[in-house]
Amino acid sequence: MKVKARMQCIIPSCSKRYNINEMRTQCDCGNLLDIKYEGNFSKKLCEIFYDRRNPRGNIFNESGVWRFRELINFINEDSEDYDEYCKVFVSFDGAEGRTRPYEMIKVAKYVDMPPGNVFFQPEGLNPSGSFKDNGISTGLTHAKMLGVKEAICASTGNTSASLAMYAANEGIKATIYVPKGKIAPGKLSQAFQFSADIFQVEGNFDDALQVVLEKGAHGAYIMNSVNPFRLEGQKTIIYRILEYFDWEPPDWIVFPRGNMGNCSAFGKAIMELYKWGWIKKIPRFVSVDAAGANTFFKMYNGLYRDKPLRWNGGEVNDKLIHSYYEYLDKERIKPKTSATAIQIGRPVNIKKGLRSLDFTDGISTQVTDKEMEDGVAIVGSNGFDCEQASAACVAAIKQLVKDEIIRKDDKVVGILTGRLKDAQMIVSYRSNSKNQFANPPKTYKRT
Ligand SMILES: *Cc1c(COP(=O)(O)O)cnc(C)c1O
Ligand SMILES: [Zn+2]
Repeated sequence: MKVKARMQCIIPSCSKRYNINEMRTQCDCGNLLDIKYEGNFSKKLCEIFYDRRNPRGNIFNESGVWRFRELINFINEDSEDYDEYCKVFVSFDGAEGRTRPYEMIKVAKYVDMPPGNVFFQPEGLNPSGSFKDNGISTGLTHAKMLGVKEAICASTGNTSASLAMYAANEGIKATIYVPKGKIAPGKLSQAFQFSADIFQVEGNFDDALQVVLEKGAHGAYIMNSVNPFRLEGQKTIIYRILEYFDWEPPDWIVFPRGNMGNCSAFGKAIMELYKWGWIKKIPRFVSVDAAGANTFFKMYNGLYRDKPLRWNGGEVNDKLIHSYYEYLDKERIKPKTSATAIQIGRPVNIKKGLRSLDFTDGISTQVTDKEMEDGVAIVGSNGFDCEQASAACVAAIKQLVKDEIIRKDDKVVGILTGRLKDAQMIVSYRSNSKNQFANPPKTYKRT
């Protein structure tokens, strides 16, 4: 099956189109771009997707991203022609996206839900340790298609780890810009290990991203989530959830909010499947901010100037966003949370994120650093690994169940976005007997 694709401005009143061979992450009007497909997507493809779980030696069937290649086929490859697509698709030997939802009994008890109704998808099982591999594999595929020799990104750690790993594997140079002193050593060490060129930027992630966006305007290939081809790969996180539930959507999908790449990609996946008639029900999204970096929570819930920020058919209140950012600058308010992956004050995908919450009747909430730490520990006691930002979904589900917004007979899926790379976090947490899930090491006395 071949599919024609183009880029298109996300704002309906503009809708300007661009060829996918262009290197750009913005419309001429300044807004973000979507990948749009022309084609008939039959739900019969679900059988093919499932069948590919027996990969028969094909790494692109093993890959939880490329297994769904018909739905992310922006390069117009024949999805059945292995000899052709194996030259272009970027995969880490089929290892990315091999995840699915799991029941986690102890976490279910902790959030006060029946075990069969709450699930978590551990994206930390990806080869570089976070969901980012889903999107880097497709983003780098586009870069390779354009013959790009170097890709750049700003990162709180996981994007750079993933880009560095995949780029090294493909013989492409990775250059990364990180906020100095604000990323976990375990993540930075991956960029070193995979031989990326590393620049430390004074300031926070938002400042590092600004540097990268400027480089992009001068021709660099950007691998941050403003890259619409990266988001195509992240849609497969949703496909794997739906496949697990026989393509019957759950009631809720819950995830942490950083730059809103996931919120954007997940919403696009749901909008497309709904349009093609594959799903009848629309799951409600919960986007979770860290309380110390709660730009979106505040704006969405009308806590700034009493004006809830909404998609509004694409006519987003830009002035309100700019006014809030000016206020942050003026008051010198910096995002501050120990969950560094979501320490982001100016989510670049904010408009796509609004569109996703609009379509899914979504909500935005916030959780504290302490609640996320407890979440990491309870996920650990179920034999799974996740970092602090990822545990935002555990804390949020607990809160929403208590507030009776999520009902006990609802079906809920939380996305555990990455594996724990900040070893000191859990050592300190478990060693401190004041913590709810403390488990300090005991001294063994030899007799
Ligand atoms: C990147 C990242 C996030 C933020 O995701 P967005 O798509 O930017 O909102 C959350 N958790 C982890 C572990 C991450 O690496
Ligand atoms: Zn436009």
